[in-house]
Amino acid sequence: MQLNENYENLSESYLFATVAKKASEYASAHPEQKVIKLSIGDVTLPLAPAVIAAMHKAVDEMGVKETFRGYPPYEGYDFLRESISEYYARRGVKVPASDIFVSDGAKSDCGNLPELFGPDNTVLVPDPVYPVYVDTNLMAGRKIVYAAATKENGFLPMPDEKVQADLIYICSPNNPTGAAYTKEQLQKWVDYALEKDAVILYDAAYECFVQDGAARSIYEAAGAEKCAIEMCSFSKTAGFTGTRCGYTVVPSALVRKGVSLKEMWFRRQSTKFNGVSYIVQRGAAAVFTEEGLAQIGENLGYYRENARIIADCMDRCGIFYTGGKNSPYIWLKCPDGMKSWEFFDYLLREAQVVGTPGSGFGRNGEGYFRLTAFGDRENTREACERLYRLLKK
Ligand code: PLP
Repeated sequence: MQLNENYENLSESYLFATVAKKASEYASAHPEQKVIKLSIGDVTLPLAPAVIAAMHKAVDEMGVKETFRGYPPYEGYDFLRESISEYYARRGVKVPASDIFVSDGAKSDCGNLPELFGPDNTVLVPDPVYPVYVDTNLMAGRKIVYAAATKENGFLPMPDEKVQADLIYICSPNNPTGAAYTKEQLQKWVDYALEKDAVILYDAAYECFVQDGAARSIYEAAGAEKCAIEMCSFSKTAGFTGTRCGYTVVPSALVRKGVSLKEMWFRRQSTKFNGVSYIVQRGAAAVFTEEGLAQIGENLGYYRENARIIADCMDRCGIFYTGGKNSPYIWLKCPDGMKSWEFFDYLLREAQVVGTPGSGFGRNGEGYFRLTAFGDRENTREACERLYRLLKK
């Protein structure tokens, strides 16, 4: 018996699991205190009424012989793939429905897509970033090189000609920094990937937060269909964190060594994945109706206002931060030279506010801290009052 020894290269526990454990240990030890969590990027508003109505209708259909459905298509129902394709088209981006694969969320696709690539590829990952990219590639024993995202480059690293990467992760708007590439910057990444024969894995989970004209899809850049896979999710767009639905675009033009990656992905999905339930896909399709878009727009507005409240608090405390404009995260510099976990403990102890230590997203995140705008309004306000009392100069 041999175990996968690559697991030894992982940190002991997944970042958000460690944060949750520390917060709940503190809460159990201090039951008289109210702990406010602005840590994990989970939403708090309920699903939009249009989504709920579509799901109710789908439940009724499942109870009638004539409209009952069994296994869904591996790549998703056409009604949803077409709605997603139209969602792209409305932004002037051409993504045919036939290139879209519906899944149970972007995290699964992030974790599973690297299976299409051999173990000896070099993986380029921005630092800091969503930890799933690093961990899944460590599990597979791949070599990882990092692209430093720092205050100096606006947390938006650009390609380095000297680095030969085979797989390139881009997360824009970025979790945790909130930095978002422009179309012109993405074009440079696409040109680099085409030159190096690399494949970009583009995570657009936060595209719906873009407000300043930054890019919302890698396919805004010319030639991206020949070198990029895009993952996206209904989690942040429409509050599907508990409902589970996402999608990945694998263009038919994406071919390496004469092999279609879209066909490989279909082969993988049809072997290991049995699709997303009809009820959930009906709910997801309702997101893109006129009514659905208006309703999710209101929810996004609520989270944006939370982000503004947190940003305003940071301004009043004189703390450097980014994000909160094109993303639901505020990425702040820990005051007084504190390290990320040190600041985590300090905030928990002194203000009973939980955030996420920046160092958990990569080496360049050390000394930074992430607060989420996905919280409840009253809790966000109360957390900010506590932060102001504690951190004001
Ligand atoms: N990608 C990024 C960058 C994320 O931050 C998250 C969740 O926080 C996900 C993907 C996961 O998305 P899903 O809920 O669709 O699995």
